[in-house]
Amino acid sequence: MITKSAISAFESIQTPFYYYDIELLNKTLDEYTSLIKKYNYHAHYALKANADSRILSIIQKAGLGADCVSGNEVALAIKSGFSPDKVVYAGVGKSDKEIKTALKAGIFSFNCESVPEIKIINDFAASMGKTARISLRVNPDIDAHTHKYISTGRKEDKFGISPWMFESVAELFKSCKNIELVGLHFHVGSQITDLGVFKLLCEKVAELQQWFTDRDFFIPNLNLGGGLGVDYQNPNENPIANFKDYFEIINKNLVVKPGQNVHFEPGRAIVAQCGHLISRVLYVKIGQRKKFAILDAGMNDLIRPALYQAHHAIENLTSQKRKMRYDIVGPVCESSDKFGTNIMLPQTQRGDLIAIHTAGAYGQVMGMKYNQRDLAKAYYSDEICQG
Ligand SMILES: *Cc1c(COP(=O)(O)O)cnc(C)c1O
Repeated sequence: MITKSAISAFESIQTPFYYYDIELLNKTLDEYTSLIKKYNYHAHYALKANADSRILSIIQKAGLGADCVSGNEVALAIKSGFSPDKVVYAGVGKSDKEIKTALKAGIFSFNCESVPEIKIINDFAASMGKTARISLRVNPDIDAHTHKYISTGRKEDKFGISPWMFESVAELFKSCKNIELVGLHFHVGSQITDLGVFKLLCEKVAELQQWFTDRDFFIPNLNLGGGLGVDYQNPNENPIANFKDYFEIINKNLVVKPGQNVHFEPGRAIVAQCGHLISRVLYVKIGQRKKFAILDAGMNDLIRPALYQAHHAIENLTSQKRKMRYDIVGPVCESSDKFGTNIMLPQTQRGDLIAIHTAGAYGQVMGMKYNQRDLAKAYYSDEICQG
């Protein structure tokens, strides 16, 4: 919910820009961390969802660790104050330079996605006189029932090590001296709203873990990844993700052995709802069948609709008039530069402020300069709304 005082502050800011509701971010973190404490779990925030420096600093202070998918994210996490022993690092294509960065930093765990990757990490660790802590990112072959571009745990996806490779992985850990197996890692997709997927995941974890137990490998850490979805349809009604039911399902279904720690990697669910993309209407163009509200924000500022056919709630913050139907589009020279089709908005005119909600995750961080457009800046509720 964007307050009246925020809207009046928007008047003097150059659009388009990202607006972050810091109070909501803190509330979300409070709810999340209190459940993490209750169940004695560990959390690593997925930096790729939003790596804005202010947002990172708040999340770090709330006590979360960091989940990274590149060497630069590892470096940024550490620079932002995340302790290396709370940093995990996944990715199918870790480069030599990235592996060395993470080894030097002494991160908690490399979440490894293939046999050749583990070998290379062992070699680099040996040459640096270190031991690398390694978790296997396992592909559990689960369909997360989400958009195909954000599904990662099916056997046709590029992510993770499939169970038929376990034999050669076990051989590696026996023969290589500079790696230590510290966990199993799973991340099956993003924007998962069917909590039954997580129950299925818990059952898969037990089944896959058994293979290692049978061969006398103790697995000290189970990492269930991220993926919990948020409400893109009704952000005002459901500003905080359903953490309570999520952790209840996990707690009920996950078999945890004595001495085992359980980890999570939330991204979207922490930051999505606190972010809004704010823009102005440049023109209302009357077509033969449609009215187009043309915004000064485009797919270069928020690419999710173009990339994943994602829905974002759109609100006219200026007009209270009778509702009419619009296609909401951006200025970029691509037909996919469109935020919504047949959207009911109060009668809209040039200069109206438009908010695109639930833009805090995979929004600003995916911003690009296509068409040589400027990158949208970030503003924060506690800095622009005094009193
Ligand atoms: C992207 C990603 C996450 C975070 O996913 P969300 O859906 O944003 O919670 C967690 N772990 C890994 C390995 C990822 O790639």
